[in-house]
Amino acid sequence: MTTQPRNERLEDALVRDPEISEQLLRWYDQTARDLPWRKSSDPYAIWVSEIMLQQTRVETVRPYYTRFLERFPDVFALASAEEEDVLSLWSGLGYYSRARNLRRGAGVVAETHDGRFPRSRSEALAIPGIGPYTSAAILSIAYELPFAVVDGNVARVLARVCRLDVPLQRKASFLEAQAEALLSKERPGDHNQAMMELGATVCVPRDPRCDLCPIGEHCQAHVDGVVDAYPSPPPRKETVALELVLFLVVDRAVGATERLLLERGNWPLIRHLWIPPIVESAGGPPDSSDAGQQGWANAWNRWTRHRAKGLEVGGWSHLGSIRHSITHHRIRFQVVEGTLQSAPSDLWATRDDLTVATERAREELGRSSLLTKALALRDRVKGRKQLEFPI
Ligand code: SF4
Repeated sequence: MTTQPRNERLEDALVRDPEISEQLLRWYDQTARDLPWRKSSDPYAIWVSEIMLQQTRVETVRPYYTRFLERFPDVFALASAEEEDVLSLWSGLGYYSRARNLRRGAGVVAETHDGRFPRSRSEALAIPGIGPYTSAAILSIAYELPFAVVDGNVARVLARVCRLDVPLQRKASFLEAQAEALLSKERPGDHNQAMMELGATVCVPRDPRCDLCPIGEHCQAHVDGVVDAYPSPPPRKETVALELVLFLVVDRAVGATERLLLERGNWPLIRHLWIPPIVESAGGPPDSSDAGQQGWANAWNRWTRHRAKGLEVGGWSHLGSIRHSITHHRIRFQVVEGTLQSAPSDLWATRDDLTVATERAREELGRSSLLTKALALRDRVKGRKQLEFPI
């Protein structure tokens, strides 16, 4: 293949050489790692493995995958399982919403598709927890349907093969089109797995092992000797400073077990995690007008107004502040503790974005580093004089 000229209109510059797929598949046939989920063409088993592998290392997933399939061998077994049982088998794997969605998804497949994973992309995408990547992976590997996957590994390989001169995040549609253009129509499942394998084992983020690469002669970055420059780094965003108040609202109503109020989905930067309630600090950094019981009560009222009217909290105590970074946001949280005094009687039963959770339940909901920091601060100041204010 001749080197593709770099083109201002990247969408017109798709590499379409079928030799790339042929060489990739030959390499995959000879070197593919022996992984338990590769022994199966059962869409359910492939689905389980793809969900477990999201943001989790292969070696971590292996024992969980085997145990999970022994306990829930098919869609019907998972669909009829108690959520608690599914979560306990998932315990330690993290990102517990994956397990909840998998169980919900099994319910949909059991009820709507007679237990058979659908072959249509749109029906697959309608299943809870299944997005473009997962649907392409399952449909191609289980049914040999021609959908190309683009995960982080594949995107990196393509960026190097095509010398893509813009950050990957800006070129999702180009990457999808490029992945489709290279896809083997005879063995799309193996082709997808080979691309992912190449990114995971050879075309790694730092110091790719180009001497072992089966498609090195087609890789523009390698041929031009500029591999280190790809993928292009994302543009640096300007740092944004935020001042927020974080509420550790304690519910001691049930026996001696302390429960903490947590919410999910309200804060745009941390939508997927269960975290304590947060509001913006009135007028930026806290000042004397924010201090004291009335100041914290006012801040709490701002939260309840939007999130849950009728949640009465008192006995506010300012514990100090913590710093936390999320993407380009540098956030200072004033951490205040209060005691839950009353809540509408039907609140916990009617809201799936609010809960009061014991320490054990919090583990199952997934650990947020923000909550861990706030609780560590509380542990430090417990029994000690409240930190000076303002900080
Ligand atoms: S030649 Fe190197 S940079 Fe190019 S795809 Fe192969 S491993 Fe990646």
